[in-house]
Amino acid sequence: MGFGRKVKRKQMLIARKQFMKSFKASMRNFKKQVKCTVCDRPPGPEEKIDNWHINKESENIDLICTICYNESESKKENDNEN
Ligand SMILES: [Zn+2]
Repeated sequence: MGFGRKVKRKQMLIARKQFMKSFKASMRNFKKQVKCTVCDRPPGPEEKIDNWHINKESENIDLICTICYNESESKKENDNEN
């Protein structure tokens, strides 16, 4: 009695473990691919890519790091002044 349920529960746990494993692996791969399209550097370990900017003019998802973004923004300001 209750044996079938136990097996099902175990299968579910295994499936969930495998899902988490592949999910974490794909997240790792995604992070590896992330780099600034301007200076080509990946985010540092302490850096949150949430703060990075996405170039919406591009067809791809081009990420721009905070340093390059600030630079391009200040350049724009200078252009306006001239
Ligand atoms: Zn950059």
